[in-house]
Amino acid sequence: MAKLALLGGKPVTTQKIGPMPWPPRSESTAEALKQVYLSGQWSFNSVEEQAFEKEFAAYTGAKHAIFMVNGTVTLEAALAALNVGPGDEVIVPALTWMATAMAVHYVGAKPVFVDIEPTTLCLDPEKFKQAITPRTKAVIPVHLLGSMAHLDKIIATAKAHKIAVVEDCAHMQGGFWKGKGVGAIGDIGSFSFQQSKTLSSGEGGICLTNDDELADRLYRFKHIGYGRGAEQGGAKAGPPEGLRCHNYRCTAFQAVILRHQLKALPKLMKTYASNVATIKKILTGVKGVRIQEPGAKATQQGYYNLAFIFDSAPMKDIPQDTIIAALNAEGMACGGTYGPVYKHTLYNALPSEYRIAGGSCPVAEITGTTRTVTVSHYTLSNSKSNIRKIGEIIKKVVTNAAELKDYVPATK
Ligand SMILES: *Cc1c(COP(=O)(O)O)cnc(C)c1O
Repeated sequence: MAKLALLGGKPVTTQKIGPMPWPPRSESTAEALKQVYLSGQWSFNSVEEQAFEKEFAAYTGAKHAIFMVNGTVTLEAALAALNVGPGDEVIVPALTWMATAMAVHYVGAKPVFVDIEPTTLCLDPEKFKQAITPRTKAVIPVHLLGSMAHLDKIIATAKAHKIAVVEDCAHMQGGFWKGKGVGAIGDIGSFSFQQSKTLSSGEGGICLTNDDELADRLYRFKHIGYGRGAEQGGAKAGPPEGLRCHNYRCTAFQAVILRHQLKALPKLMKTYASNVATIKKILTGVKGVRIQEPGAKATQQGYYNLAFIFDSAPMKDIPQDTIIAALNAEGMACGGTYGPVYKHTLYNALPSEYRIAGGSCPVAEITGTTRTVTVSHYTLSNSKSNIRKIGEIIKKVVTNAAELKDYVPATK
């Protein structure tokens, strides 16, 4: 048995394998930004924004794309466009970034947290079905970390109950389900381009839809009511009744950055996919760790994180903190997950303002929170030799897990 570095053994690598520089930067993007700056066309449906919307829609196969200031307001916009409001319930998975649930509060509706599948860590389609009430107006499947919620099952159930489907694709740029762009499959898809995401302009977001009327509502919602094509100060017709609009416009600068990154996205996805395949190969037959499954009909992953789940022998009794410490000591960076929204420090909704379907979400609380370790996508772009070391580090920690049984961390 090899002695683990956490217990004083020799680490797999002394050069820590961590995040590669992110977001990407280049002279050609800097030059394009300078041109936009000099043009003075910075906002208000600029040429660059329109071009990015067109290119992103084409990439995913959606009919319409509406660019906004971040990936939280895109969720709010989606719900508002679908007429979700006070008295309505919206089903969201328990394990996601808070924004998914906050958007529901912003439109005055009630989030209903539903448990996740232990395989994909995404919304459980069966539990979704069971959580539906006459008040359920929408469901927001989140394609979490880099895996896809079962869109076929979720959409079939939603159709049968006349429930709208808003895909939260903040973690899923570049993902395809049965060859179709993720985000272009439900009624509306919502993406974030925040600093850490796979396409990043610091801040930014976009909604996709194939429905002309929803596209018009989304556009007006983010543009304080203006219809597409209206000149500033020259609105001809107001927004539809009941649609209270905002200024959620993004700028041409973000659009330029994203246009450049979108061109590089297919190649980036190939790199991530190849590196994940390398890690999976090293871990084949290793008992004690499994990789979050991509989703039943995923044809191309859109990696945000790679998640390792340590929920079987010999790892299942070793605390997550110890596993992370052991992996770090061997030389790789990794972390945990968000944990269930309703337990997040920043989530301050009153108990009367949300509901937990079935009273608790054990898979999200246990598997998704205490047994899952994540590696960010920008760590997945390391050199092949470092990628192989990630696989070897995990293998070493799992196969020598017995050494960790009595490990007690030093008190701080
Ligand atoms: C990042 C994220 C969002 C929100 O995006 P912002 O652009 O940060 O507002 C929404 N949902 C999920 C799952 C996210 O990770």
